[in-house]
Amino acid sequence: MLENSFLLSSKMKISIDHEKLGIFSQSHVKFYLKYSSFVFRALKKPTFQIFLHWMLKKERIEEQTVRTVHVKVLPFRRKNGKCLAGTCNTARGRIRIYPKTMKFCQIFKQKFGRNTLLVYAGNRARAALIHELLHLKYAEDEKTVRELSKDYFLISTQKQPNQSSKAFFIYTLIFYAKNSGKKASPSVSNEPSTSLTLNQTCLRASGVIK
Ligand SMILES: [Zn+2]
Repeated sequence: MLENSFLLSSKMKISIDHEKLGIFSQSHVKFYLKYSSFVFRALKKPTFQIFLHWMLKKERIEEQTVRTVHVKVLPFRRKNGKCLAGTCNTARGRIRIYPKTMKFCQIFKQKFGRNTLLVYAGNRARAALIHELLHLKYAEDEKTVRELSKDYFLISTQKQPNQSSKAFFIYTLIFYAKNSGKKASPSVSNEPSTSLTLNQTCLRASGVIK
């Protein structure tokens, strides 16, 4: 078993932007606090940490180049309305992972149920962390990062017990939702299932900060 200090685990923390708190209602804040602590636990799971350690080694990314991994409590919406899954400051080795919005989660829960939402939220954060870690090596080469993210994410699901049944479904949601056809409006519509706002699910909405 690896020493804990060697793993990314020790660099992870939940972080909240206090100045943003005023924008959100109490029920939203409560929701996002629960979401972030769930995601935090999902990312810290030993099997996933060992997987990350292996991936960094394989990619020859020194673990010291990762300074911090912040699991942000509140979502980050870009000007185009899309929510970021994560960001990577490659110069400082600072990674941030953001949640899906409460609205998205409510719609998702209605469609697929609570359990699938939890599996989705945990795996989306894992995929985002894999993606942002790869940016440390491949910087702005988004294409390579995306391709490798898919491969590594699949490997990571194979290393998690009890996940296999839903893994492929979640994988499809995370990486291919955008290709599922027409653009859906954020509100619940009567359209057939896949046209839910899953176009936001895609990890494309990820930023690199130099
Ligand atoms: Zn990216």
